[in-house]
Amino acid sequence: PTRSSAELIRAEEPVLAHNYHPLPVVVARAEGTWVEDVEGRRYLDMLAGYSALNFGHRHPALIEAAHRQLDRLTLTSRAFHNDQLAEFAERLTALTGLDMVLPMNTGAEAVESGIKVARKWAYDVKGVPADRATIVVAAENFHGRTTTIVSFSTDETARAGFGPFTPGFRIVPYNDLAAMEAAIDETTAAVLLEPIQGEAGVIIPDDGYLAGVRALTERAGCLLIADEIQSGLGRTGRTLAVEHEGVVPDVLLLGKALGGGIVPVSAVVARREVLSVLHPGEHGSTFGGNPLAAGVGTAVVELLETGEYQRRAAELGVVLRGGLHRLVGRGVVGFRARGLWAGVDVDPAIGTGREVSERLMGEGVLVKDTHGSTIRLAPPLTITAEELESALASLEKVLGA
Ligand code: PLP
Repeated sequence: PTRSSAELIRAEEPVLAHNYHPLPVVVARAEGTWVEDVEGRRYLDMLAGYSALNFGHRHPALIEAAHRQLDRLTLTSRAFHNDQLAEFAERLTALTGLDMVLPMNTGAEAVESGIKVARKWAYDVKGVPADRATIVVAAENFHGRTTTIVSFSTDETARAGFGPFTPGFRIVPYNDLAAMEAAIDETTAAVLLEPIQGEAGVIIPDDGYLAGVRALTERAGCLLIADEIQSGLGRTGRTLAVEHEGVVPDVLLLGKALGGGIVPVSAVVARREVLSVLHPGEHGSTFGGNPLAAGVGTAVVELLETGEYQRRAAELGVVLRGGLHRLVGRGVVGFRARGLWAGVDVDPAIGTGREVSERLMGEGVLVKDTHGSTIRLAPPLTITAEELESALASLEKVLGA
């Protein structure tokens, strides 16, 4: 007998770790921009798996690539070559303008790998004395959940109880070039930044900040690592968010949408001089670069090569900003948006981000709050203008309630 949504939520309680506080919706199937719960209620997905579903649920080209690979070969490990990996790396380097790929699985793994590569580069190439390398990061960052990554988080909830922490990180305020300049010295291996801080509430730095950091890192002879795990792959109206400032990082971290919402696929993509510091045995992953991941990843890159999704994000971003602009002073106190990505601060008098998210769920629209009274909108890039307008109308309704 199939269980109801309420029964399934109750069943999770004793057997699943309580490290999340999901909205009370139990999704059973999905297509495009829509998900359906156990009882057959339909919801517009305005979160898109934290941008892992940039191409929508079950995009036909991605499902086909996955099926094709499932029927032929799913895993070899990197003990052997597989026939999918070369093309994935060729296309991903061509798409990003960088030289080499280190395939991993999750976002946090790509970040960890980027940190290791930057440290090794500092010792092998730059000549930093052993174990002295530092990496400069921004306050309010979100780069994942591993022990090393939470070591340089400024979110106490993410850190408390998980020490001792990994040393070697300097934290500076985001969007502050003077502080960045002061933190960089001869020990600096890299600056690690989100071009737009997603989890912090879609915080967009001032024009010129990223280009300024690029200039600082070039002058200091250290690497710039752009974490585009959430901002990349079409979300902001460009393939990469750094393109808005004409910046090319030395190291690019990708994840989420790289696996098309089907399999976890992440990558460190970098200049040859940087990724060449890795030799056999120094780093690895059993599943990294597996043929199923590479096949789906190649299909994702093929979708991005058309430019269609970047164009949709840019065009529909105008609709999103227009709709949010109309709500300012009517329940919305402020918002930040680029492409199909927005952080919306709702009037705390109307409710917390959580309460607004629950009310939107009641209207058939799924979003997720970030901090306090901020909600994040990040629909699949396949959303139509009509669907977007209807989500904005639902937001208007719940804010007026
Ligand atoms: N980096 C950024 C910018 C992210 O937004 C996230 C996830 O939200 C991560 C890294 C971590 O990715 P994962 O959850 O796949 O480990």
